[in-house]
Amino acid sequence: MSVKIRLYVEHPLGQGQTVPLSREQAHYLFGVMRLGVGDAVALFNGRDGEWRADVAEAGKRGGTLVCQQQSRPLQLPPDLWLLFAPIKKARTDFIVEKATEMGAARIMPVQTDFTNAERIRQDRLQAHAIEAAEQCGGTFVPEVGGLTRLGRVLDGWPADRQLMFCDEAQAGGTLALDAARAGQPWAILIGPEGGFSANERARLSALPYAHTVSLGPRILRADTAAVAAMTVWQQAMGDWR
Ligand code: SAM
Repeated sequence: MSVKIRLYVEHPLGQGQTVPLSREQAHYLFGVMRLGVGDAVALFNGRDGEWRADVAEAGKRGGTLVCQQQSRPLQLPPDLWLLFAPIKKARTDFIVEKATEMGAARIMPVQTDFTNAERIRQDRLQAHAIEAAEQCGGTFVPEVGGLTRLGRVLDGWPADRQLMFCDEAQAGGTLALDAARAGQPWAILIGPEGGFSANERARLSALPYAHTVSLGPRILRADTAAVAAMTVWQQAMGDWR
């Protein structure tokens, strides 16, 4: 029998493992999706792959599932971080959703000189990443970090991680990613609606691990730029090759 419903749980998954459901999960499975005892769902927790589980107890406020067999192993994305300056709420949600679908290992909102957003709802963005993983068949959920100043992120930057710096000032230039660096840890940096400041551009372009790139001759919105950058990186360096 094919299992259509995929659910993210925190609980460990393994042969015969009993998984308790929260009130919200029970409401979704038994109230909304009308599942009952004996029905099957697919579970993943971001660590143990995907498991087929059967409903053992179904209640209004809770229930339990029992893992039957692993249906897919854990599939990790490439070691790619997406750093982006948060923009309007719906477009920020879009970036988190698409980055999860496209295979980011970590999503890091950064505050740049021209970032409008003062704060983000990290828990809400993390929930978006979980929903995106549920929907796209992923077995991994990228962690969404808290909003951190770009300068602070760069101060603690790991020396071996390459940075694809998407700079709108390069629009119309070339995009050349060094294929020899495929397999190394990478990150993509996308700026806010206002772009990068002269100070940021000067600091970034002097970093030995930063690769300044153009995303074509037109200026893309930040959400479009995030998807475009991930697409070209995945195709050149990641798990789409
Ligand atoms: N306000 C800026 C301007 O008019 O030049 C545009 C900023 S753009 C809306 C937001 C971000 O998307 C940029 O900071 C950059 O990271 C990325 N981006 C957009 N178009 C790009 C391009 N053609 N080349 C490289 N990066 C681009």
